[in-house]
Amino acid sequence: MNRLQQLRGTTFDLIVIGGGIIGAGIARDAALRGLKVALFEKSDFGGGTTSASTRIIHGGLRYLEMFDFRLVRMDLKEREILLRIAPHLVKPLDFLLPFYGRSLFYRTKIKMGMMLYDMLSYDKSLPNHRFLSPSEVATLEPHLKIDGLRGAVLYSDARVDSPERLCLENIIDARQHGACTLNDAEVIGALRSGGTVEGVAVRDLPSGEELEVKGRVVVNATGPWFDRIAGILTSHTQNMVRTTKGIHIICPALTQRALVLFSGVDKRLFFVIPWCGHSLIGTTDTDFHEDPAEARATGTDVKYLLESLEEFFPHEDSQIYFSSAGVRALVMKGGSESSVSRLHRMIDGEQRNVPGLISVLGGKITGYRAIAEEVTDLVCSKLNVNQPCETATLPLPGAQETGTASVHSSMTRGVIDHLYSLYGSRADGILRLAESDPELQRVLVRYSRDIAAQVVFAVREEQCLHLNDFLWRRTLLGFTRDQGGQAVEKTVFYMARELSWSEAQISAEVEAYEKHRARTQQFRDE
Ligand SMILES: Cc1cc2nc3c(=O)[nH]c(=O)nc-3n(C[C@H](O)[C@H](O)[C@H](O)COP(=O)(O)OP(=O)(O)OC[C@H]3O[C@@H](n4cnc5c(N)ncnc54)[C@H](O)[C@@H]3O)c2cc1C
Repeated sequence: MNRLQQLRGTTFDLIVIGGGIIGAGIARDAALRGLKVALFEKSDFGGGTTSASTRIIHGGLRYLEMFDFRLVRMDLKEREILLRIAPHLVKPLDFLLPFYGRSLFYRTKIKMGMMLYDMLSYDKSLPNHRFLSPSEVATLEPHLKIDGLRGAVLYSDARVDSPERLCLENIIDARQHGACTLNDAEVIGALRSGGTVEGVAVRDLPSGEELEVKGRVVVNATGPWFDRIAGILTSHTQNMVRTTKGIHIICPALTQRALVLFSGVDKRLFFVIPWCGHSLIGTTDTDFHEDPAEARATGTDVKYLLESLEEFFPHEDSQIYFSSAGVRALVMKGGSESSVSRLHRMIDGEQRNVPGLISVLGGKITGYRAIAEEVTDLVCSKLNVNQPCETATLPLPGAQETGTASVHSSMTRGVIDHLYSLYGSRADGILRLAESDPELQRVLVRYSRDIAAQVVFAVREEQCLHLNDFLWRRTLLGFTRDQGGQAVEKTVFYMARELSWSEAQISAEVEAYEKHRARTQQFRDE
């Protein structure tokens, strides 16, 4: 049956457009408060900007310099909440900020900044910052340039290796609380009566079928696609977001801890983050006016990052495994790209003669839960629903007690640990599948601990529709050195069996994978 048919004749309390981290967070919050929710995502959950981030959960030292104290405080508070509600996904990470021959004024500025960062996170569980001597830094990070090093600050923030799964777990919980969430479902039009938005027209991309779906409130949470969708919903051209591209390069591991560095090219701050056994290095910030889905790292972007990096790692090879790119949606403002605030903005359509529509733009992954709470509060006030938000205390699915005894598995400790680190307590479901069918205990590729049961679980329990969804967003296989290349054959085999793919569909899936992979390598030709 076409997936849209289940929606026919239903009027939802809330329709969310966009299944990135912000839309997913809103759907979860609203479903937990008892609202009847539908969410439509045109590609895969978390496949937009959410998958292109630096993957850190942080207040953002840089934003202190911009006097964005509200943003920093909100995000430091949210960092603490995420460490509590998703400990399997969000983990503490040490950061080093080294100084090279910087003036006393600069060091005093950093000292004040760090004190403020600690003060703004007074209720944190992570340790306060401390200063390190050059020899301590050299012991901790032996590959970092020592020439001219005057010391460093060591401080704590957090990392999320898979923001894609953080997003997905919000979707899963929303579904568990009655929401209808569809990926591969594109919003292509609006239902309007006078100026009021009363629903959307959706296209089910696999079948091409279309349906009009009614909603009492519609939220536009489409990140960098915001203006396009706002144009469809209001039939006026919109110019509310400033879209800027940021890229990363992924290289052999350079450090054990995260580094905060300042580029010698233009003095911009950039990070070197330990991630999946590699270093994730970035980012850039340049205006981008094309379709966000077309963003990719160019030769010029990569050259900038390599030049910035070389100064600090003069003896290391500049080998690159692959690149990533994404587009920020910043609340429109002039000036240089990096000077634009990362603080989100919510717009109540009622105040702009578009009742029924709420818009949310800007924001970071770190603050997604608080942003979702603010939006859902407004939705509830419009619907006269008086239910408190529970998302600050209720763990995400993988952090919940399953209520059943842990599965006694015959698999190796390495595989079991790997599954729990990626899925939290939901790994029990995968282990159960694997115990029921020994064939599903097979690893997908020799160098990894991912097993066939994950493919079956992803299709049955995690709305995984495509090979790319599995490799890049249900697991971290796409981020291995060969970008999951050697796992393709087995993954396709199990997906095809679950989803009854034809030979033509299998070829199309492999082709889509190769296309995506080529995009992350294209900078080499320039
Ligand atoms: C380079 C870079 C680094 C970053 N690093 C960090 C970081 O380290 N930490 C941090 O906290 N934040 C970071 N951010 C910011 C963060 O990634 C974003 O703020 C966040 O992911 C935005 O989520 P979103 O849900 O608004 O957008 P998206 O993730 O882009 O989601 C919007 C979704 O809407 C969907 N959509 C669009 N049109 C339609 C339609 N017609 N119908 C249905 N669906 C549609 C898209 O497919 C997309 O999935 C970074 C951003 C960038 C670009």
